[in-house]
Amino acid sequence: EAHRLDGIGTTIFAEMSALAVRTGSVNLGQGFPDEDGPSAMLEAAVEALRGGRNQYPPGHGTPELLDAVIAHQQRHYGLTLDRHQVVATTGATEAIAGALLGLVDPGDEVVVLEPYYDSYVAMIQMAGGVRRPVTLRAPDFRLDLDELAAAITPRTRLILLNTPHNPTGTVLTRAELEGVAAVAIEHDLIVVTDEVYEHLTFEEPHVPLATLPGMFERTLTISSAGKTFSVTGWKVGWASGPEHLVAAVEGVKNWLSYSSGAPLQPAVAVGLNEHDAFHVALAADLRAKRDVLCDGLADLGLTVHRPAGTYFVTTDVSSYGFADGRAFCAALPEKAGVVAIPSQVFYDDLDEGRHLVRWAFCKRLEVIEEGLGRLR
Ligand code: PMP
Ligand code: GLN
Repeated sequence: EAHRLDGIGTTIFAEMSALAVRTGSVNLGQGFPDEDGPSAMLEAAVEALRGGRNQYPPGHGTPELLDAVIAHQQRHYGLTLDRHQVVATTGATEAIAGALLGLVDPGDEVVVLEPYYDSYVAMIQMAGGVRRPVTLRAPDFRLDLDELAAAITPRTRLILLNTPHNPTGTVLTRAELEGVAAVAIEHDLIVVTDEVYEHLTFEEPHVPLATLPGMFERTLTISSAGKTFSVTGWKVGWASGPEHLVAAVEGVKNWLSYSSGAPLQPAVAVGLNEHDAFHVALAADLRAKRDVLCDGLADLGLTVHRPAGTYFVTTDVSSYGFADGRAFCAALPEKAGVVAIPSQVFYDDLDEGRHLVRWAFCKRLEVIEEGLGRLR
């Protein structure tokens, strides 16, 4: 293997889902819903398949999807885009890969929130970049703007943001985002912001960084249909922003996949254009499930950090007598028949993450109850 793969390994999500299948465990690890997205959207995909949408679509996306993303950004956030300012990707994952390979040169530093989504680490490394984590610290996992400012050096190329944040569930406030914007403007940095959980918030609505004064021209925003419409397996995502940043993603995407799922893109356009009600109901449903899982885990004696968004909750298992979340998660399938994710794999600073464990609540209520029952 090439050195660019050194130490990256396989994703924890595949590892833990395989463990869940092998042990017959309730899978509260990998974040995928166990109910499908809006049926009209699924029907639209079937119609597209039957209607001959089965050859290469335009590399930068089908016109329906590009226009639906444009309309979505306008309607929800007041952002005005044209078709050169959006590119469709194979999930947010390809947009992240495109952004890092297309914008980072070897030796460039990338400031990233820790705990981080695992693909960020892999792609920063493959781009030859150097990650500079800024830690969101328990118990409330807020962004410390002084630590952010201190992480910037003359080699910093971009800030890689994620809000709502996986795995902590933190939703960055407008004040925190203003702080990020001030740092980015002062040092003339690009910000790549992963907003795949934009519609899955429980307290305050999500604020896109690109809507802040002076930020549109330096912000690349990434999202995906996977979370918004409960179709994680469709792998339809997109990146939007000023043309020079979108072009960098497109320049990479051209050679990674060239184009993405022809029949799925028009179907996602139907979701975006006609089914806001789906993700509004999904967020309300997840909020109730969050409370069931958080209350249940707290009753078991775990310290629970209740999230304001996403579909993950972080617990501290040291209150349970486990110093190491990996050991806890390794013992859990056998002892209880449940799978969860050891958050330490999302940290450089093991002292911060060693004792943390992430649980997913994007599951049917009876599955969550079954998981809690087994844990009890
Ligand atoms: N970013 C974050 C923060 C995620 O949680 C996920 C979920 N898998 C992704 C990106 C990847 O999204 P996709 O499945 O659309 O590639
Ligand atoms: N985003 C999902 C999670 O955090 C998993 C995605 C994946 O398996 N790569 O659980």
